[in-house]
Amino acid sequence: MGTDCLFCRIVAGEIPATVVRETPTTLAFRDITPKAPVHVLVIPKEHYADVATLAQGDPALAGEVLATAAAVAEDEGLLGDGFRLMFNTGAYGGQEVFHAHAHLLGGAPLGPMLARDLA
Ligand code: 5GP
Ligand code: ZN
Repeated sequence: MGTDCLFCRIVAGEIPATVVRETPTTLAFRDITPKAPVHVLVIPKEHYADVATLAQGDPALAGEVLATAAAVAEDEGLLGDGFRLMFNTGAYGGQEVFHAHAHLLGGAPLGPMLARDLA
């Protein structure tokens, strides 16, 4: 996309990030405000606004994002106790950065899936 996308700027090296894994098509870096002992963001280097656009536009790339997330989960020692992988999407999903990203969370029991029961 362009210089007005925060994560595109991280991909371009214009904004520093603590990168934990990089592939030709994906990047994984630590969230600047971690919500768990391990909180890594995994993104496609190419700009897609959200996971729905990514999955529909380039399913193979979406799979590469998942594969990178799994590799980071292994590197961070999360495979034994488990972890959470989530894509906040749109207004109801609480998405704040409109470049598709998976949150990889782990390192402690993460509690219920949602803070409130909305059913
Ligand atoms: P969202 O709410 O869009 O799913 O998540 C955006 C995430 O990006 C948040 O968890 C936030 O802490 C993280 N974030 C925002 N700005 C930066 C930044 O400049 N660097 C890094 N590493 N993470 C960021
Ligand atoms: Zn972007």
